[in-house]
Amino acid sequence: MNRDRSWMNHNGIQDRRKTAYKLGVDDFLQFAFKEISNETPLKCPCLKCRLLLAQNRKDMQCHLLVYGIDSSYNLWVSHGENDEQYDNSDEADTEGTEEVEETEMPFDDMAPLISDAKNAWNSTSSVLDDNDNTTDYGSSGGNNEYPKELMTLVEDMEAELYPGCTTYKRLEFIISLLHNKVSNKWTDKSFTMLLKSLHRAFNYDKHFPANDNQAKKYTRALGLDYVKIDACINHCILYRKEFANEEKCPKCQAPRWKENVVHGGDEYSDDEDVDVQKTTRVPQLILRHFPLIPRLQRMFISSKLTRHMRWHKVDNKDDGIMRHPADSEAWKSLDTIFPEFAKDARNVRLGLSSDGFNPGANMSSRYNIWPVMLVPYNLPPWMCMKSDNMILSLLIPGPKSPGNDIDVFLQPLIDELKELWESGVKTFDAHSKETFNMRAVLLWTINDFPAYANLSG
Ligand SMILES: [Zn+2]
Ligand SMILES: [Zn+2]
Repeated sequence: MNRDRSWMNHNGIQDRRKTAYKLGVDDFLQFAFKEISNETPLKCPCLKCRLLLAQNRKDMQCHLLVYGIDSSYNLWVSHGENDEQYDNSDEADTEGTEEVEETEMPFDDMAPLISDAKNAWNSTSSVLDDNDNTTDYGSSGGNNEYPKELMTLVEDMEAELYPGCTTYKRLEFIISLLHNKVSNKWTDKSFTMLLKSLHRAFNYDKHFPANDNQAKKYTRALGLDYVKIDACINHCILYRKEFANEEKCPKCQAPRWKENVVHGGDEYSDDEDVDVQKTTRVPQLILRHFPLIPRLQRMFISSKLTRHMRWHKVDNKDDGIMRHPADSEAWKSLDTIFPEFAKDARNVRLGLSSDGFNPGANMSSRYNIWPVMLVPYNLPPWMCMKSDNMILSLLIPGPKSPGNDIDVFLQPLIDELKELWESGVKTFDAHSKETFNMRAVLLWTINDFPAYANLSG
């Protein structure tokens, strides 16, 4: 499946006259029209149509030779290619450079984060001890275990994998295993089996995770965890709060669980952690909620990032040129109406993006999931739209579009935003080394018009 796509990088008509380009176009057309008649109009990836207009095979060939193919369209999703096909390509063919980089990356990113978090925790606990022993760091999300899990990470960052090991620290090894698992789509069961074998072979102590569940728990201390919330198959309600224990939807009577599914035989599951009901019954629909508050708090734990969170007030020049939302009227009028909020530059201003909702963006591949992203606009323009700094808040299950029911799915996020706006959350700021009351406001939503209609109901 891994085809040579170097022909797609063409420069001018001279390139397009070459045989390599013509052969490439033929290869593409063959792929695109593999299972359909040459007369069926398909989205044309030429630089003029840009997948917006459809052409039959003959016209498409013409367009691709005359106007050239859009070279950024290197995964042919609109013509039936999917990620998996792309990933499962012959391993001998892949260039490998990318993969090597990927396996080296995660720990390098993580080490500074953990030491920042450790410093933050040290300072926070001493501040809290001085003031008020009952204050709970990160009031929502029940972070009582936070310090213990975090200390494990800090310990493991230094701990030898086995006595005398010079290649890996324990944390580094576990993270790289998790990374391999995720990037190669290992199943939970296969991962547990691998961990068991490792335990047997190297006689690891109890500090090394013995199964998939324990390994997953590892990342929780960094606030990366998410919550699964069952939802009604017809998008009426979420099974939370007053509906948490319902067996069927109180509005449409649809059952909460899929019928006749036995998940059982879960010999590898971590007993203390698994709700017995959940192992035997599979919910019809699951909303994944990535709590926002710990993620915002984490932005301030990183001493590098927290400095940038003040950018909009401290470093942004007011010279009448529009280069950031902070220069806009909406931003300034918020400052005037809520001077209390505006006083602290660290208070977070968020934009909500629901671009994924656009049902027409990619007609041929069915979406399974609709993500809701948040953008922290405190950051400078070159940072706030980087994927690293965007916050994933919700994954709404498909394949049915959430449509106007989106407000049902947004509930957990709205609850968090209310808390952040009304009372705020105690947060440690690694830059000034103090705790402050972080508040947040949702300034904008970014979306196309169909999604806009859905959001505003
Ligand atoms: Zn075209
Ligand atoms: Zn329902």
